[in-house]
Amino acid sequence: MSNKYEFWFVVGSQHLYGPKVLKEVANHSKIMADEFNKSLSIPYHFYFKGVVTSTEEITSLLLKANNTSNCAGVITWMHTFSPSKMWIRGLDLLTKPYLHITTQFNRKIPYDSIDMNFMNTNQSAHGDREHGFLSARLRKKRKIISGYWEDDSMRLRIGDWMRSAIGAVFSKQVKVMRLGDNMRYVAVTEGDKIQAEKDLGWSVNSYGVGGFANVVKKVSIDKLESKMEEYKEKYLFDTTNIKSIEYQAKLEIALEEMINEGGFHAYTNSFEDLYELEQLPGLASQNIMSKGYGFGAEGDWKTAALEAIMGEMSKGLKKGLSFIEDYTYHFEKDNEAILGAHMLEVSPAIAVDKPKIQVHDLGIGGKNAPARLVFKAKTGSAILVTIIDMGGRFRMIVHDVMAIEPKHDMPNLPVACAMWKPMPDINTGNEAWIRCGGTHHSVISYDLTAQHMKDFAEIMGIECIHINKQTTIDELKRILAIGDLIYK
Ligand code: MN
Repeated sequence: MSNKYEFWFVVGSQHLYGPKVLKEVANHSKIMADEFNKSLSIPYHFYFKGVVTSTEEITSLLLKANNTSNCAGVITWMHTFSPSKMWIRGLDLLTKPYLHITTQFNRKIPYDSIDMNFMNTNQSAHGDREHGFLSARLRKKRKIISGYWEDDSMRLRIGDWMRSAIGAVFSKQVKVMRLGDNMRYVAVTEGDKIQAEKDLGWSVNSYGVGGFANVVKKVSIDKLESKMEEYKEKYLFDTTNIKSIEYQAKLEIALEEMINEGGFHAYTNSFEDLYELEQLPGLASQNIMSKGYGFGAEGDWKTAALEAIMGEMSKGLKKGLSFIEDYTYHFEKDNEAILGAHMLEVSPAIAVDKPKIQVHDLGIGGKNAPARLVFKAKTGSAILVTIIDMGGRFRMIVHDVMAIEPKHDMPNLPVACAMWKPMPDINTGNEAWIRCGGTHHSVISYDLTAQHMKDFAEIMGIECIHINKQTTIDELKRILAIGDLIYK
């Protein structure tokens, strides 16, 4: 369990049934929170903040939640019948992600002993409806999860929502370092950075490539040696061009220095803007990505920020995520798939085996041959996620895919790659993604699901389109048309 984030569990009640009942409510809530904290399905601390009954108490607690930086969300539950007008001010002011759980301390109705006292104390079915009405009336964004609190199925859903909430809280702190501008003439990597900071919290600023080149020149021998040791431990050297690897090591050290100094979570570069650099960062960007930083090639700051956020959301999960690009179709009948890769920059976090370091010419950009990691990606169910700028608003697109092992080796392909089948089938999947305006760049995650991303988008207040097994183009057109009305 990580200490970086905690969730505040706030239980509503009232004084109508006397102090004895309030004590029992607090006792039940505490037992529940303790058990949640022991559960592996709940990845973050479930912090019981007490039973609340008055407007003043609720307002002050929820304002405190807003101002507590490691509080990533508020989770409410109404144990008794709890009038909710006292929640109006507090909920109206609440800016943290909000989850309303509806459950009950006792699993079963004690048929033989149930009386009015028992029923008054344990009436979540009643209290949660009052609370639900108030939130609906306030148009308050929230997640609702119903289930019995001892069941793992409910705990897993709470755990999943916690990851979405963390993504939302983290998003509001994201800082992206842009080294140079976007690739010339590319439309999809453009965007409104002011709107992005307003809607998503991302602070995106550029830094001269010349300044970066100067930091690269000043990298010390000691640091270079320890970075080379790190590479030797993690990767297989499949080249005699050690000089090229050393240059990538210097690039990575310089990047780390600038990232740490500026408190950045993600960065971008462009092969068209390398100024005094001898190589495009390849191995350097790949190794940095695997440490949880976001990366966007060709100045793609949106994908860079998204990768950092998805990295934070999936902390503790092991299958990995990466920046990726749709590259080439395979239209063999009944075995259709898409080959994803990039010029260089795919994260070794998704490698199926120990990656090899190789050096090959890039072919574009006019610089020296860069060292890069070459590997095949993992297989299994995954999602591709992107965020596009629709002009005045953002759209997230999530595509369910099945990552597969390519049937053949590709001995002449000098880059890391992944292969996947888009849902529901290659043609509907392509048509859907392209109709939505989905980018060629995206983030592939084997850990997160569409549900994580949908809840994240809902908290952020942006549109989210989910392309999945059930998707049809007719239905998608309707969803997009409705989205244009809602989010314009
Ligand atoms: Mn690209």
